[in-house]
Amino acid sequence: MRVSIFGTGYVGLVTGACFAEVGNDVICVDVNADKIEQLNRGEMPIYEPGLESMVARNRAEGRLQFTTDAQAAVQHGEFQFIAVGTPPDEDGSADLRHVLSVADTIATWMDDERVIVDKSTVPVGTADRVREAVGRRLHERGARVPYAVVSNPEFLKEGAAIDDFMKPERVIVGCDDAVAREKLHSLYAPFNRNHDRLISMDVRSAELTKYAANAMLATKISFMNELANIADRVGADIERVRIGIGADPRIGYHFIYPGAGYGGSCFPKDVQALARTAHDVDYVPQLLQAVEEVNDRQKHYLFNRLREHFGGDLAGRRFALWGLAFKPNTDDMREAASRRLMESLWEAGAAVQAFDPKAMDEARRLYGDRPGFTLCDSPEAALEGCDALVILTEWNQFRSPDFDLIRARLNEPVIVDGRNLYDPAVLAGLGFHYYAIGRPPVV
Ligand code: NAD
Repeated sequence: MRVSIFGTGYVGLVTGACFAEVGNDVICVDVNADKIEQLNRGEMPIYEPGLESMVARNRAEGRLQFTTDAQAAVQHGEFQFIAVGTPPDEDGSADLRHVLSVADTIATWMDDERVIVDKSTVPVGTADRVREAVGRRLHERGARVPYAVVSNPEFLKEGAAIDDFMKPERVIVGCDDAVAREKLHSLYAPFNRNHDRLISMDVRSAELTKYAANAMLATKISFMNELANIADRVGADIERVRIGIGADPRIGYHFIYPGAGYGGSCFPKDVQALARTAHDVDYVPQLLQAVEEVNDRQKHYLFNRLREHFGGDLAGRRFALWGLAFKPNTDDMREAASRRLMESLWEAGAAVQAFDPKAMDEARRLYGDRPGFTLCDSPEAALEGCDALVILTEWNQFRSPDFDLIRARLNEPVIVDGRNLYDPAVLAGLGFHYYAIGRPPVV
């Protein structure tokens, strides 16, 4: 089948590569000419495990092309996927500028029947707005071309995106048009062979399902962070509590890790956007507001620990940061806990030496010239001359480090761990001041 995809970010690029991988003829289009040039040179604008080889293979076999030519893309695909960003607007609502601009572009160039598929995360009612925008432009052109608008939200996880797309837990298709639904069914059939993972519903429910999923996951994290803060104050160990509650299958062990607050491009903005939707329909979303507030507070946790340890004054101090990405196996630093911490440290007059296995280029782009910011080639190099080590991302390579070397390189044996990677008793035995989230210090 012929597929066109607008937006070559984490979602669009993975979607395009995976549709090509199963034999479709795919064109990915982006307004960012640098990105398209990079892709046409065979370079990846993002890090995602397995993506580079999949893109190379499908380009070489002629099934995957990258262009800035929107007209060619509209004329190519019977499916027109919208996978552009939906960043938060000033009031927290999703900014639909890019989505509606793509709708307008599609309507400007389409001259044959099209299924327009919204994969971006968008508030309930957006498919109607896309349908109207397309209808308006077609009317202006005096063109009569049939089209359907489908909501097909994406659930891939950065860091495991290829696997998630190739073997999805579910494919949500929100559609009021039986023919378009059948077409989507055929397009997704290769990903759906083991058992039927396609869940059909009306458009509004599909749009809300995406927000509901992210809000639920964010709620689990904020819940655990709230419990961790209580554990701190009552002398309990949140890690034992986590294991204790997860044993109940109604609760389960997935996604109940305390930490330094959730980040990334999705949870923060999607919780906010859902809350905004609720306000717009005169409903006060108390739980969602609390989820966000708890998360905001949690992002100060590590800074507060450092400040307390160093007697309230961090000016002139230097800290080693391991991990900058908002989670492992990605280079994405959008809303990462590392950013809030670094910004607080700089404000307090401290300096940072950081290492991340994949997010160094992104960190350089964001903070390259900033005074008090040094990127180091290795985790060990980042320790040199620092007053403490702070763990921000649970990359595998940080799980079992050489603690003797850490102690030797740091000015003081202090580790502040935002991911609860180590055993407090072991670290205390090695002579460290070890601070974790919601775990009583062992002295
Ligand atoms: P991204 O910022 O990585 O990529 C968006 C791309 O769209 C950019 O390359 C941008 O240049 C391009 N773009 C903007 N306007 C365009 C236009 N008019 N025509 C063509 N291209 C245009 O975003 P992302 O992380 O891939 O997210 C895309 C959408 O998918 C968002 O709504 C997001 O909430 C949702 N989503 C993201 C994830 C994730 O893990 N990143 C997961 C599920 C859903």
